[in-house]
Amino acid sequence: MLKRIKLANLPTKIEKLDRLSSELGKNVYIKRDDQTGIELSGNKIRKLEFSVGEALENNCDYLITCGGIQSNHARATAAVAAKLGLGSYLVLRGDENEEIEGNLFLDKLLGANIKFITSEEYKNRTKIMDEIRMQLSKKGHKAYIIPEGASNGIGSLGYVNAMDEILEQEKQLGIKFDAIVVAVGSGGTYAGLYYGNYINSNLAKIYGVNVCNNKEHFQEVVRNLLEEITTYTDKQIVVNKEEINIIDGYQGLGYALSQTEEIQFIHHFAKLEGIILDPVYTGKAMYGLFNEINKGSFNMHENVLFIHTGGIFGWNKAQRALLCN
Ligand SMILES: *Cc1c(COP(=O)(O)O)cnc(C)c1O
Repeated sequence: MLKRIKLANLPTKIEKLDRLSSELGKNVYIKRDDQTGIELSGNKIRKLEFSVGEALENNCDYLITCGGIQSNHARATAAVAAKLGLGSYLVLRGDENEEIEGNLFLDKLLGANIKFITSEEYKNRTKIMDEIRMQLSKKGHKAYIIPEGASNGIGSLGYVNAMDEILEQEKQLGIKFDAIVVAVGSGGTYAGLYYGNYINSNLAKIYGVNVCNNKEHFQEVVRNLLEEITTYTDKQIVVNKEEINIIDGYQGLGYALSQTEEIQFIHHFAKLEGIILDPVYTGKAMYGLFNEINKGSFNMHENVLFIHTGGIFGWNKAQRALLCN
């Protein structure tokens, strides 16, 4: 079987959002995957348990990955590398002269090597990462490349496992979740949950709220990831694109761009529940869930579980500025 290394604090707790539930007239629960750690926090750590496991198995001494300038995944990778005594190289989409804050600041503290590239260059990220791998190889290093968000077959296994964890917690809590909701950025979290739900013959509906791109794009991405997952497992999956439930319409201005209404919602939620969402993923996803419940789209569901995937370090200056009382 695959070598998995233990990085995350598991299981993460599930709690009921009491006041939000009364406000919405619906039982809404939250799974705190934002508490998988501090430096090693959020959903990416579950994926990295498998990706980095494979890297170590192959005797690699460097991790290379990519993402936006405030990528939670890149920061998590830098932290894991430091923790394991490996080198890290991050290929970040953004301007070198941008303010050094949030995840970017942590990347630097953690000693990551950083290469900044433009959005145009980012389309060739695979090639750019491969060039870095070859340069490192000339210096005697063996690097392991992790794709954006660790969203490939092996990374997604982290959320196949998370689904097992949820099913176990359902038994302990005496609750059955009939809807599970998660933010979708590169698709691996959703794909892992979907696959885990499917192979366990569990009847929950898995919903993803896309924070960029659109529904059709992610239905395709998830379908490919599901196929890739099966190369590591022994259970096949047959799924139509239409069965991949992506709730479109909450990406707002686009990836990592915020609007006042979204930040005001995060503010409302924070005051209501004492839980901080991030502006890029969980804020948009919870805002989407809130609106959809109000619209009646969740009327057939009794117990809804939202996965808090982390991201607290991602807040930037522009987003903070939208918080007005
Ligand atoms: C990456 C990320 C997501 C999205 O997960 P994907 O597997 O990329 O779809 C959600 N929330 C946070 C905080 C993230 O960093």
